[in-house]
Amino acid sequence: MKHNFGAGPCILPQEVFKQAAQAVLDFNDGLSILEISHRTTEFEAVVAEADKLVKELLNVPSGYSVLFLQGGASLQFAMVPMNLLGDGQTASYLDTGVWATKALKEAKFIGNVNVVASSKDANYTFIPKDFEIPADSAYFHYTSNNTIYGTELFEVPKTDIPVVCDMSSDIMSRVIDVSKFDLIYAGAQKNVGPAGLTIAIVKNEVLGKIDRKIPSMLNYQSHIDNDSMYNTPPVFSIYVALLNLRWLKSKGGVAEIEKENKQKAEALYREIDRNSLFKGTCAVEDRSRMNICFVMENPELEKPFLKYAEEQGIVGIKGHRSVGGFRASMYNALPITSVHALIDAMQSFEEKQA
Ligand code: PMP
Repeated sequence: MKHNFGAGPCILPQEVFKQAAQAVLDFNDGLSILEISHRTTEFEAVVAEADKLVKELLNVPSGYSVLFLQGGASLQFAMVPMNLLGDGQTASYLDTGVWATKALKEAKFIGNVNVVASSKDANYTFIPKDFEIPADSAYFHYTSNNTIYGTELFEVPKTDIPVVCDMSSDIMSRVIDVSKFDLIYAGAQKNVGPAGLTIAIVKNEVLGKIDRKIPSMLNYQSHIDNDSMYNTPPVFSIYVALLNLRWLKSKGGVAEIEKENKQKAEALYREIDRNSLFKGTCAVEDRSRMNICFVMENPELEKPFLKYAEEQGIVGIKGHRSVGGFRASMYNALPITSVHALIDAMQSFEEKQA
């Protein structure tokens, strides 16, 4: 058994893997999920249930549409400004890391971008505070969890303009107030399901306010009008996401998983702060619960620790090249026993060094 701390695509519950495998062999009446039409009543029921579960789990108010899209969060970087940033308008972005930078780079293809604040000079080790969001911006965009640097924004910045959020790596991990957002998007491949699916939650009234002609596949309205079936959707990815959402509901929903995620993160940060060999890389108040980044006081011990951890079945903890050291991604499906396995490895490695 492996303890999979990979950043994404990542661990999903074992029972989801088993049910997905079964559906590949026989989803309905001897037919595989891989061979059925997306226009069958059986698959329409899958999309309808997935839509219902996203709304229920995140308590999505009326007036919002849930969309099942493709192209990853990276395509959303472009779709957001195409749909919301009119000619001559400016969009405001908070720069908290690589993904935020990539998002604002795409917006610059469409219109003007104002960066309200950036922590780039500090290698994104903290979330900038006390920035001003100009009231005449078309929208404000931020990344709620910075997967690479291990920082997370738990409060929605205050503004009266539309708020757009990339929640790729913390959606479904904690309770959010959807009514504070006009558009939320997330690549599915962390807490929602497998790769190949992107979720968007769009406040209907934020659309249709600009004059641009938008190609149909890039227009949120086409996907809303066609219940996410404007073209062939990623059938298997949506089905596996549904299995995962059912699992989350059976666990007691987002509020319950948030409690577990807090416990898991607290346990690992406690060990990082206690263990003389390790130290965290981010400002304590901005520490992410999903991606926990840490390095060793003596960088020469990093390779030996990685090898030692691998011998204990711990995989996926090598840090991203922009931070180095280690990154333990602890998404919803990662059991607390895996966190304890990592903590035990850190403790026994420390003892070995003494
Ligand atoms: N935003 C965030 C916060 C991410 O973590 C990632 C991928 N890890 C992306 C965007 C890009 O997502 P995709 O690969 O689905 O385009």
